[in-house]
Amino acid sequence: MVEKLEHWDLIVVGAGPAGLTAGLYGARSGLTTLVLEEKTPGGAASETPLVENYPGFEGISGRDLVEKMTEHCRKVGAKINELERVVQLDLGDEKKVKTDKATYTASAVIIASGCHYRSLQVPGEEKFRGRGVSYCAVCDGAFFKGGRVLVVGGGNSAACSAIFLANLASDVKLAHRRAQLRAEGALVKDLQAQKVEVLWNTELKEIKGDVKVKSVILTNNKTGETEETNVDGVFVQVGEVPNSQVAKEAGVELDKGGFIVVDDRQRTSINGVYAAGDVTTGPVKQIGTAVGQAIVAATEAFCYLKRPYYYKG
Ligand code: NAP
Repeated sequence: MVEKLEHWDLIVVGAGPAGLTAGLYGARSGLTTLVLEEKTPGGAASETPLVENYPGFEGISGRDLVEKMTEHCRKVGAKINELERVVQLDLGDEKKVKTDKATYTASAVIIASGCHYRSLQVPGEEKFRGRGVSYCAVCDGAFFKGGRVLVVGGGNSAACSAIFLANLASDVKLAHRRAQLRAEGALVKDLQAQKVEVLWNTELKEIKGDVKVKSVILTNNKTGETEETNVDGVFVQVGEVPNSQVAKEAGVELDKGGFIVVDDRQRTSINGVYAAGDVTTGPVKQIGTAVGQAIVAATEAFCYLKRPYYYKG
């Protein structure tokens, strides 16, 4: 006997701001909508201490903002299954979404699976992960109250983390491999105001310790000078890698960096499959852009399913 699988008009993979917005728009437009999340809803945004650039909120914690989004998404009728990981996609005319708990069918799919932290791949990083090496200042900063920490990276995440840690640790240094930060001007000003020392042209070569982190080996890539500095914690903030493996295995086109290629209507290379948020090739990775892309993706999915007479692709 052929197993009857639970069918949804729309399945959304991931429940960060993009996935929750896709769920909201999908359900509100009358599509039966299931959002699948391998962890708990919120994604990387829930780790941002203070969001000051999402319109309408002069300052709100990432956690509070995504909680509002989750509640809103559920309220309009989307089902959010958390702790359910998508392991396989079959993206023919009828889509099949296999998770670690069940298999569903869907008429359209939106992939909003976000990114995960890039690691430095230096000696000691893996060994001391969770024992002084962290990828999330908001999650782990409190463990370093009064301590000495090193943040690695030069983008917005590194700057945000260093600013956050400056209120907890007694000494915060930021090591960046170049002579200029990539972070936005407002964050750079905050870094200066918080008296975070920036170590320019500096690369982290090794993390040392016993049961936990004790020191780091830093090299200046201009002078070649190497020194050992005592620290209690290392926060690695060197960018993100897209969670696109399952999409790749299903034949969705990715760019060289592994991001899902989308057009200006958030369509992927496969009919009826859309993508939104940090997992896509979009040049700006913000909560606002993730939300906007998800609105386009869900609206397109609706037209694909319900208005095929004017949907051209
Ligand atoms: P990012 O902007 O890609 O910056 C990554 C940083 O890490 C760069 O400075 C890069 O150096 C450095 N890096 C990369 N690989 C490295 C390696 N192997 N060793 C040493 N350094 C390395 O990533 P992000 O800061 O995580 O931000 C990701 C996205 O989220 C961005 O679009 C960002 O704007 C957004 N975001 C926004 C906010 C906000 O408040 N507005 C907060 C957090 C994140 P180079 O500069 O030399 O390439």
